[in-house]
Amino acid sequence: MHEVSIARSIIDEVKKSCSRKILVRIEKINIKIGQATCVSPESLDKAFTALKKDTPLENAELNIKKIPLEIKCRECRKKTRDAQWPVLLCGSCSSNSVDIITGRELRIDTVEIDDSKRQF
Ligand SMILES: [Zn+2]
Repeated sequence: MHEVSIARSIIDEVKKSCSRKILVRIEKINIKIGQATCVSPESLDKAFTALKKDTPLENAELNIKKIPLEIKCRECRKKTRDAQWPVLLCGSCSSNSVDIITGRELRIDTVEIDDSKRQF
């Protein structure tokens, strides 16, 4: 399952950049997932919950923020928000010649340690 390997890499990445002392204090891992990544936040959360057991991240929760898909038309240069993946059509002229502006994100944004935030 795709989401399991993503959950594993989230854990690995956080482990790599934080000391153990910090790891055990992490309460929340904020991640951003674009709509165009086809990652199911529910499956990812489930995978993370299973994988964090018996690791220093046991008390950490995933906080998943979905990033809407925004595209820009190559024909009329207009932007369309909330385009529906995978049918990418310009909202103004219905052209399918578009570029994705946001929606491909898949990354750790910040981690929350007790009351402080640490930028990733
Ligand atoms: Zn257009």
